[in-house]
Amino acid sequence: MFATLSDRLADTFKNLRGKGRLSEADIDATAREIRIALLEADVALPVVKEFVGAVKDRARSEEVSGALNPAQQIIKIVNEELVAILGGETRRLRYAKSGPTVIMLAGLQGAGKTTLAAKLALWLKDQGKTPMLAACDLQRPNAVKQLQVNGERVGVPVFAPEPGNGVGDPVSVARASIAEARRTLHDVVIVDTAGRLGIDAELMQQASDIRDAVQPDEVLFVVDAMIGQDAVVTAQAFLQGVGYDGVVLTKLDGDARGGAALSIASITGKPVMFASNGEKLTDFDLFHPDRMASRILDMGDMMTLIEQAEKTFDAEQAMKAAEKLSGRGGQFTLDDFLQQMQQVRKLGSMSKIMGMLPGMGQFREQLENFDEREIDRIEAIIRSMTPGERENPKLIDGSRRARIAKGSGRQVSDVNQLVDRFFEARKMMEQMARGGGMPGMPGMPG
Ligand code: GDP
Repeated sequence: MFATLSDRLADTFKNLRGKGRLSEADIDATAREIRIALLEADVALPVVKEFVGAVKDRARSEEVSGALNPAQQIIKIVNEELVAILGGETRRLRYAKSGPTVIMLAGLQGAGKTTLAAKLALWLKDQGKTPMLAACDLQRPNAVKQLQVNGERVGVPVFAPEPGNGVGDPVSVARASIAEARRTLHDVVIVDTAGRLGIDAELMQQASDIRDAVQPDEVLFVVDAMIGQDAVVTAQAFLQGVGYDGVVLTKLDGDARGGAALSIASITGKPVMFASNGEKLTDFDLFHPDRMASRILDMGDMMTLIEQAEKTFDAEQAMKAAEKLSGRGGQFTLDDFLQQMQQVRKLGSMSKIMGMLPGMGQFREQLENFDEREIDRIEAIIRSMTPGERENPKLIDGSRRARIAKGSGRQVSDVNQLVDRFFEARKMMEQMARGGGMPGMPGMPG
């Protein structure tokens, strides 16, 4: 989402490389470049002004740390200021002390509310909650149906007006949904409300009426990060018209400039609490300002990756592989390689995973063009090998290569390439395991 901004900032920092100390002119030039980068990314002007001012002041006055060179010092300051405009600390949901917690969603039509309602329900379920969805968007044809379909997909019940009773009144539906949740012992109710294509008084009034009727613990304003400066305008209008406690950014997977979304927390004073970054119902998580900042600065998003890995990795298998790599427990084989690949795949698409690693910004284009089917092809080749060959790939001579190619429907050159790559990777991994560090891993600039 923030590719252009990332690239521009990386260029700015590159210009500082090798400088022993920063002159006043260096600081001015850097501040100017950061300003342009933010403006081009669509960050709102008042936010840009404040941001650049803070970076400049701190770059001038801060004690120069012995551990950091000037480029790193500036990156550190920019990182901290980015975290600050994104809202600082991660803000978590507040749950009701007694009775069901009520979360109301508000936003324009198409913002992604209905999708988000199901994503949030799934996320809450994973946290051990028993959520229920309330269909109070009675404006958009099909919204109720869409919520019911999504609810079914995530295994969460949907409270909706009886069909055939006319359109129904969203305020009574909302009120009744809370009573139903109390009766059926659901501990969270997510209330999906109607949106319009533009901001209008009637929409605001309806949302306010629902809010007054159900007294939500959290009102979340849902906004499409791809609509540029309009996101800020809409956020302000909803703040005045309905009021809310937190913001949810959707469509962060888009390739628009998206900087406006970065301004919302700063301009409204309300924290971004969740982020939605894809059409799949699992493409959703808490929003962590610090992680987003390091992603923008291409310092990688190791925390997210680690958490996802923790969720999906088979620890025992990983231990075995690690032992093999360190020379204990036998040699790393093609079977291990296959297993590792399957483990990594559970984390998501290769390009998504690689994109979270530090220093990968420079490979963005290759990542975006990465053909996920390549992994299927590798799998097919390995599966066409005999157990003996996988255990001891040195066995794989010319005639075996031809057989494997035929079995997997690939060319002999593909098999050659895979075997060569495997030996290279094994060598590299063994070096790393022996404590040689990551060869060729780009570090922080400076
Ligand atoms: P609502 O009118 O606010 O309820 O919006 P919907 O939930 O119907 O979403 C509008 C469209 O945006 C749908 O086509 C969704 O699939 C899509 N959408 C929602 N969230 C995301 C997201 O995070 N990423 C992408 N790419 N699409 C999304």
